[in-house]
Amino acid sequence: AAKDAGRDQFHLHTLALDEAVQAEVEVRAMLGQALNDNRLTLHYQPVVSSGGTIWGVEALIRLQHPEKGLLPPVAFFSALDHPRLARPIGRFVLETALRQGEIWHREGLALRMSVNISTRHLLDTRFLDDLQEALAKHPGLPPEHLAIEITESAPLTDMTGAQMLLRACNRLGVCVALDDFGTGNASLAYLQRLPAHSVKIDRSFVLDMINDPNDLAIVAAVITASRMLGLKVIAEGVETAEHAALLIKMGCSHLQGYYFSKPLPPEDIPVWSTRFHFAPLMKDVVPPMNV
Ligand code: C2E
Ligand code: MG
Ligand code: MG
Ligand code: MG
Repeated sequence: AAKDAGRDQFHLHTLALDEAVQAEVEVRAMLGQALNDNRLTLHYQPVVSSGGTIWGVEALIRLQHPEKGLLPPVAFFSALDHPRLARPIGRFVLETALRQGEIWHREGLALRMSVNISTRHLLDTRFLDDLQEALAKHPGLPPEHLAIEITESAPLTDMTGAQMLLRACNRLGVCVALDDFGTGNASLAYLQRLPAHSVKIDRSFVLDMINDPNDLAIVAAVITASRMLGLKVIAEGVETAEHAALLIKMGCSHLQGYYFSKPLPPEDIPVWSTRFHFAPLMKDVVPPMNV
């Protein structure tokens, strides 16, 4: 009977695995199909400076599904890093974001453009060529106004390789942002070893900092260390006025979150930018230094 139970368990286990593999295959097919059919788009979420104006936008991918509507990356996350999709998707995102950034610059809206780069695309030997090609096609967007967002896991696998690659990006003029900072194994010392320009504090810390003193301590430490090293700090997941006020008081120079705006389709950005003012908040808050 024990043997039978074991066999049943094994059977269940392989069934669950089959289902997981099947789901992966379907998600990959859906993303590949959407790329072929031109059903991938980018939305743009404003990033504001603590001084109260729009500073830039982050490009965030969306998939237009024939039945389910507009899907966020959580619906196809694993496939973004798939060996056959990471680079084509990455090239599409770079091209689309740079084209849009160039249009806004030509219209006099000089926004910083942040683009998420999958670790697989970043570590592909052709990544620098892809980046250079996109920049060359869109000379109206100054490379200094482009930031590539990378997650901390990428350099952790090969620090020397990552340093060389990011330095090459710097030589092109492109800025580097460390995304989701604090969620992985990276330490504060790590900030000093990478040629990065900014750090994005993961939204999980920002959302919990009001109630959890440990999260508040992490946010404060990342802000302080980053500033001492000359890096910009962008807080993600700013959902309330209280979050914003507390972050600014701690010296955070840039903020992003639903409190200001959700990610928007490109046509909504110019109007949003001109209407946006965030002065009321500054009344009872000590302004940060050097920003
Ligand atoms: P991320 O780069 O950390 O992007 C921030 C995510 O937080 C976005 O989710 C954004 O909509 C969400 N967010 C912003 N403000 C708030 C807030 O106040 N509260 C909450 N709860 N969430 C907020 P989104 O667009 O669903 O993207 C999820 C992740 O997918 C991104 O996280 C990024 O890692 C990845 N991703 C997005 N676009 C691309 C892309 O073009 N290429 C690649 N490789 N990955 C992408
Ligand atoms: Mg990001
Ligand atoms: Mg992030
Ligand atoms: Mg992320």
